[in-house]
Amino acid sequence: MAATILDGKQVAAAVKAEVGSAVLGLDRAPGLATVLVGDDPASHSYVRGKRRDAAEVGIRSIHHELDASTGQTELVDLLDSLNEDDDVDGILVQLPLPGHLDSQAIVERVDPAKDVDGLHPFNLGKLMLGRPGLRPCTPSGIMRLLDHYGIGVAGARAVVVGRSFLVGRPLVMMLSEKGVDATVSVAHSRTRDLSSMTSEADILIAAAGVAGLIGPEHVMDGATVVDVGVNRVGSGLVGDVQFEAVSEVAGAITPVPGGVGPMTRAMLLANTLRAAQARNAAT
Ligand code: NAD
Repeated sequence: MAATILDGKQVAAAVKAEVGSAVLGLDRAPGLATVLVGDDPASHSYVRGKRRDAAEVGIRSIHHELDASTGQTELVDLLDSLNEDDDVDGILVQLPLPGHLDSQAIVERVDPAKDVDGLHPFNLGKLMLGRPGLRPCTPSGIMRLLDHYGIGVAGARAVVVGRSFLVGRPLVMMLSEKGVDATVSVAHSRTRDLSSMTSEADILIAAAGVAGLIGPEHVMDGATVVDVGVNRVGSGLVGDVQFEAVSEVAGAITPVPGGVGPMTRAMLLANTLRAAQARNAAT
């Protein structure tokens, strides 16, 4: 039987509608600063999309585009001024940064209260402690998608393929935290016999960045499969999951595109709203 499609576009639209109506209830529109360094076409297109999304829900965007040769000090100075700026609630530095810049130092320079990407060690630390706060957008979006479709997470066996700080590790924390209660394993590039591990999963999340890594032999009958991967193959984009073949085995599956991507974008807006509400409450 064909799998249920977990439609990220549709759920993202619901999240955006929620954010939009909450924004209407605020005294001032939240401000999202986007910082883009260099000429990478994919980064430009991502930031364009994020600014368009922001405009759709009434979030003001404040855009800074810097030359590829921008130095660390100049970028740090810009972040310091955005940190100080009362009209800025969220700061997004588009990654990856050009190689001569120290990305981790840049991520750590953003005021944690404005860290709408949820990647500052302070916010990752709060996640580790199970405390609410600004959490990374992609794993938050996946949790929201699972929740929307009523996928039973408590007690389920979840396998996360990928251990990055952007996706895999925060997802392990979110799935295993108290109240969510999945039993989680994490696989990575050095994992032996991936399929014996993934085929035990009730919920399988593929975030390796390897086109077509997950085939039907990796998937238990009826499992929920979430494909985070975005891989350029020729002129198209494909996920980490062999969509057609795995759809025959899985109970539910996310498409690429139209699955995790729109959820990630929607959660950035939700985080910006959250940051604005927290800052308003603090003043
Ligand atoms: P990353 O390169 O930082 O991490 C990839 C992880 O996968 C690593 O931990 C690595 O050990 C593991 N891995 C690599 N090959 C593997 C293999 N053969 N078997 C098992 N594990 C393997 O990447 P990332 O930033 O976590 O992103 C992962 C993928 O998700 C990429 O395709 C990226 O483009 C995509 N992504 C999509 C969104 C979205 O919104 N849709 C957001 C972030 C990342």
